[in-house]
Amino acid sequence: MASQGAAQGPNDGSDGKPQAAAAGAARIPSLDRLLNAACMQSLLQGHGHTQVVAALRRHLDTLRQAALAGELTTASVRPETVASQVGDALEAAAQPRLRAVFNLTGTVLHTNLGRALLPDEAVAAVVRALTTPANLEFDLESGGRGDRDDLVEGLLRELTGAEAATVVNNNAAAVLLMLNSLADRREVIVSRGELVEIGGAFRIPDVMKRAGARLVEIGTTNRTHPVDYQNAIGPRTAMLMKVHCSNYAVTGFTRSVDVAQAAHIAHQAGLPMTVDLGSGTLLDLSRWGLPREDTVRETIAAGADLVTFSGDKLLGGPQAGLIVGRAELIRRIKKNPLKRALRVGKLTLAALEPVLALYRAPELLADRLTTLRLLTRPPAQMREQAERMLPALRRALGERYAAEAAPMASQIGSGALPVDQLPSYGYAIRHAGKGRAGRALDALQAALRGLPRPVIGRIGDNALWLDLRCLEARDEAAFLAQLEDPLA
Ligand SMILES: *Cc1c(COP(=O)(O)O)cnc(C)c1O
Repeated sequence: MASQGAAQGPNDGSDGKPQAAAAGAARIPSLDRLLNAACMQSLLQGHGHTQVVAALRRHLDTLRQAALAGELTTASVRPETVASQVGDALEAAAQPRLRAVFNLTGTVLHTNLGRALLPDEAVAAVVRALTTPANLEFDLESGGRGDRDDLVEGLLRELTGAEAATVVNNNAAAVLLMLNSLADRREVIVSRGELVEIGGAFRIPDVMKRAGARLVEIGTTNRTHPVDYQNAIGPRTAMLMKVHCSNYAVTGFTRSVDVAQAAHIAHQAGLPMTVDLGSGTLLDLSRWGLPREDTVRETIAAGADLVTFSGDKLLGGPQAGLIVGRAELIRRIKKNPLKRALRVGKLTLAALEPVLALYRAPELLADRLTTLRLLTRPPAQMREQAERMLPALRRALGERYAAEAAPMASQIGSGALPVDQLPSYGYAIRHAGKGRAGRALDALQAALRGLPRPVIGRIGDNALWLDLRCLEARDEAAFLAQLEDPLA
């Protein structure tokens, strides 16, 4: 037991000396008294009796520990102090674990930060679907049971030229379902140059195994020829499959077989040609000055019988896996019991429909579709924004760091167009003080992550980079407000 007048404890307020343990413990108010105190009433109303009692019990425990250590202060046992500290603890516990952040990484479709941001139309549709009953699987014409895929199938057919479409939880699920429906205990021919791994957990050979299909690898990492496909076809072959090299590029001495050629070979053997397009763009992005990618429509037109792609990559919608293609194959996929396990919920469909509908007006898309708007932001606009906010950033950073507005390169992200970078603008922040620069930048990065709305940047070349591409006007005030207090 600590003697009276021992070193001051952490709870020591300005107006209280540590007290002897016994005397201290006696001054801790009882649970009942606290619950009836006027200062507790708003907490009870806000958090409910159960949570407040549990938090009070925990707090009283810490006060008793402090008393035992001889560190209890007079201030800490006042009901007002207890109410305020318990209130803080309850507030902290009530914070959602999923929090809004500022994505200043320069990667627009950042998988770890939730990929595509949805346009207002989609948000409104989700809110409606959450709060009112809807005809999710109800045919309003016949009054009978409907099919949830019908809600977006028409749009998908219109936008891709495919005969039919179905939607599942994500593209990984789409690939798994397609393989399991059409190639269970049979062979699927894939080029060695296309055995992709997406973010660790999705690897084509592993998905193939789980789907019950046997992978037949052909060609080499850098070169695959039409004859490689032809030679691999046998009695157990279920399909030929091409996979988009989403997050890498094979360059140099290379040769690959395009969809049209591979589809021709597949069709000659009476087999379906399938393509995992990954990102799956619905319109040629070069019209907005972005790198060209084959669209879903072009892939179908080239002869693919099924195409799978993600909803939340370049398409700019919610997480989903879209499968479009020949009606007969889509029918077989929809009959697979796995489809029921992998189906999407109403929130996904509510968000997906208005996003797809935006594609009907390509001229307006770069303004309306958030992902495309971010990808096409003019560098001059970001530069103006960077220069305008620079004084506020410098004030918040203090002497220890030097920030300047600087050009940089953003990425599309999520495996879309891996080698292409977009000219962007933002801040390069360097260590200006003494000591190790690396440690100082790590500390700054941690401070930015510790903000009420964490700011996520990236470190490289002895600087912390904050890319402003994804900081749109509507978020600017919230960003600046956090710079009012010193960061470091
Ligand atoms: C991204 C990607 C996937 C996985 O898609 P999710 O929607 O993340 O499940 C599969 N294949 C390719 C080629 C991809 O690029």
